[in-house]
Amino acid sequence: MVSLLKKLIGSRNDRLLKQYRKLVTQINALESKTAALSDAELAAKTDEFRSRHAQGTSLDDLLPEAFAVVRESGKRVFGMRHFDVQMLGGIALHNGKIAEMRTGEGKTLMATLPVYLNAIAGKGVHVVTVNDYLARRDADWMGRLYGFLGMTTGVVVPQQPNDEKIAAYAADITYGTNNEFGFDYLRDNMEYRVEDRRQRPLAYAIVDEVDSILIDEARTPLIISGQAEDHTELYIRMNAVPPLLTRMASEPKAHEPEPEGDFWVDEKSQQVYLSEKGHETAERLLSQQGILPEGESLYDPRHISLMHHLMVALRANTLFFRDQQYVVQDGEVVIVDEFTGRLMVGRRWSDGLHQAVEAKEGVKIQHENQTLASITFQNYFRMYEKLSGMTGTADTEAYEFQEIYSLETVIIPTNKPMIRKDQNDQVFKTAQEKFNAILDDIRDCHERGQPVLVGTTSIENSELLAGLLKQAKLPHEVLNAKQHAREAEIVAEAGKPGHITIATNMAGRGTDIVLGGSIEKQVDLIRADESLSDADKETRIEKVRADWKPANEQVKAAGGLRIIGTERHESRRIDNQLRGRAGRQGDPGSSRFYLSLEDPLMRIFAGDRVRAIMERLKLPEGEPIEAGMVTRSIETAQRKVEGRNFDIRKQLLEYDDVSNDQRKVLYAQRNDVLEASSIRTSVENLAEAAVTDLVRQHIPADSVEEQWDVAALEKALAADWQIVLPLTEMLEKESSLTDDDILARVNDAVREVYSGKIALVGDEPWAQFERSIMLQAIDTHWREHLSSLDHLRQGIHLRGYAQKNPKQEYKREAFELFSGMLDRIRDDVVRVLLTVRVQSPEQVEQAEAETNQSHVQNVQYHHSDYDEALANADEATQNEQSAQQPARNVLPKVGRNDPCPCGSGKKYKQCHGKLA
Ligand code: ADP
Repeated sequence: MVSLLKKLIGSRNDRLLKQYRKLVTQINALESKTAALSDAELAAKTDEFRSRHAQGTSLDDLLPEAFAVVRESGKRVFGMRHFDVQMLGGIALHNGKIAEMRTGEGKTLMATLPVYLNAIAGKGVHVVTVNDYLARRDADWMGRLYGFLGMTTGVVVPQQPNDEKIAAYAADITYGTNNEFGFDYLRDNMEYRVEDRRQRPLAYAIVDEVDSILIDEARTPLIISGQAEDHTELYIRMNAVPPLLTRMASEPKAHEPEPEGDFWVDEKSQQVYLSEKGHETAERLLSQQGILPEGESLYDPRHISLMHHLMVALRANTLFFRDQQYVVQDGEVVIVDEFTGRLMVGRRWSDGLHQAVEAKEGVKIQHENQTLASITFQNYFRMYEKLSGMTGTADTEAYEFQEIYSLETVIIPTNKPMIRKDQNDQVFKTAQEKFNAILDDIRDCHERGQPVLVGTTSIENSELLAGLLKQAKLPHEVLNAKQHAREAEIVAEAGKPGHITIATNMAGRGTDIVLGGSIEKQVDLIRADESLSDADKETRIEKVRADWKPANEQVKAAGGLRIIGTERHESRRIDNQLRGRAGRQGDPGSSRFYLSLEDPLMRIFAGDRVRAIMERLKLPEGEPIEAGMVTRSIETAQRKVEGRNFDIRKQLLEYDDVSNDQRKVLYAQRNDVLEASSIRTSVENLAEAAVTDLVRQHIPADSVEEQWDVAALEKALAADWQIVLPLTEMLEKESSLTDDDILARVNDAVREVYSGKIALVGDEPWAQFERSIMLQAIDTHWREHLSSLDHLRQGIHLRGYAQKNPKQEYKREAFELFSGMLDRIRDDVVRVLLTVRVQSPEQVEQAEAETNQSHVQNVQYHHSDYDEALANADEATQNEQSAQQPARNVLPKVGRNDPCPCGSGKKYKQCHGKLA
């Protein structure tokens, strides 16, 4: 099957390359003509392409000329001529594919081709790198070429002032890390002013090391979190108020004197209403409690949220009872499902109700860190109009790229034939024996003057090995993927004769190991030196090259770079990355992995088989087994783990897809609100919908008058919205009024009240106020919704859903939560805008300023490796450890005996927990 598939894919790859080669021939044919242009004429091509594109010439049609122009500029700016294989890769990238190109073949330079071509469209091109160091380095480096051609380049990095960031996004080309792009997207959707947003619509991205970013890092979402204002104190104080208010003996009725009391309870709709008198009592009590300043009204714009807190406290005290709607368990309020009686572990009532109940019960009021926004890389990158990527190792993950991102992988041939020797794995019984063999190999290389790069899967192992080398008096460098800039320098030296470098897989990514050591920096310095003439520069560069040549020859003679793997990684791709550091651009090189039956991967997956083989062969102590069969069975084990990890990512994605759809809807609406010159019509529509809902609760459509509860409606209007409308009286006078007539009258009354408010402060200030109330409501409720979704996701597996698919249940409930949220946004906006008492434009401005203030503190950005990027080297080790628990934020905490969250039905310890 697999080989059949390979054949099929193989031939598809060949077909694509054949197409691309035709284009390369066209590009090559333009070379001499392009070379004849002056620098200025070459640069003028950019504007020419821009205007031709504006007049309808497609980027595809411009490709041959544009690529020829980039190649010519590369020659002039860097002294490097794009190889034909780089052209092939560039075409693949332009076509929205993944170009798999071996390490060292020059992906950085290759990317300039599609970057330039696509930047002509003027919609912005994003180049995504794995760390900030590479983003800056590549932007600086390749930016020279873009600058030469009259294009601007920007970089986005963490903690950059906003105006710089906006400028960087406005540039033709923007470099940055996946995290920064993702977080900026989320931040943009939290802004209160259009001009504070950073990104333009996402047009085209090239993702470097696409496998790391879209696969390894996609296991955890990006999360922005913060603490909403701490209202614990308010909940507790407010809880003292309801017992001091008197409940009416019955609901008020028409034609009857209002019963004594401050509030009444509508059990049907689970609502509580304050009477006129109750309202006065409440203001007095709140002042006594020190919650409301003396003499101020509950309807002042500043206190508008107090009313909400009071109503929630009243509901908690009159409608929710322990051991009916909820139980108190281990100091927590747990909801009881009203239909099934089951405990809804992990669910919380929204809108502050849960906290109010907690205050009533005297248990701890949960003031959690709230998720303000979150997105997975999968969903972020799928928003680009066109996406492409490049890496040395995509082949093993081609299926996932296709499945999740619809990205096809094209394997680009090497410029020169690859001559690295990959030796079979050697497997030892014990770790001790394995390390002895590794030391022997390293010593041998060192003595023969062959540079060696030793790869480990963890920092601990790097340090262990470093200790052993120290004992053995072998000089070495250790890289931990912490200080990207310094590491790049060390890696550049790693090819010097006899050098020993230990590195975790991530270390020094993106930097080339040149046999004999790198001279690029020296060459660059000479090139950049303005005091030298071109001829002088050439002589000096020649000299640097001549000095370097013997070292290069020596290393080549010793066999090139030697790669030693000390353990197999879970994923074959990472092993291939390590191997790929040797044998670049036709250099000699070799690689071997040393393993032992005590390695975690072997213990869990391949140990028994390999041990049986070893025992049958009766190998003497210290003797390794080395056979294709063993290497294959290890690969099978890796494939299994890869499959599992794929499932975990897919699982995450399937859950995220639900919130993704909701996020898109909500962000789109939020942006509409932000961009619209006025949202008056929307507000009017919301009010009308809210009115209809309220009226229909009391006067159902097409009902007879006996079913109507006009008095209750009258009261509700007054209590909820401060709308006083003598409906009962009207009906007495005009007995022919239909339900629709009443609806219309209420709508008229609401409109009248509303226009009155607008007239007081003026149209323009009020429009701004409407906008900020709306944004505020959207943000607050969305945050709450995110945390409900989180709770839901964590709880859904723990609830005993007999025979039910948790994912389906999740989808269904998530949808209900979302529509509930939209209703709450509507009701909030309508209530606040109808009841707020403002008299002057100044008052509106003040209220607006307060609303627009961020109501969250302690904003934090999370992704498994983002913290690391921000932390300094000292703290870095700790972060690495947390980075090794990538599923932390995603998957619920599960006990070893709980069902596995992947939904397999197996126990966690027998499924994904095996790896933990
Ligand atoms: P990759 O990212 O594919 O591993 P790099 O982009 O780091 O490779 O490039 C590897 C090295 O090859 C760099 O030193 C670069 O300057 C050099 N290089 C790339 N393309 C060319 C070219 N067309 N001509 C000469 N040198 C090149």
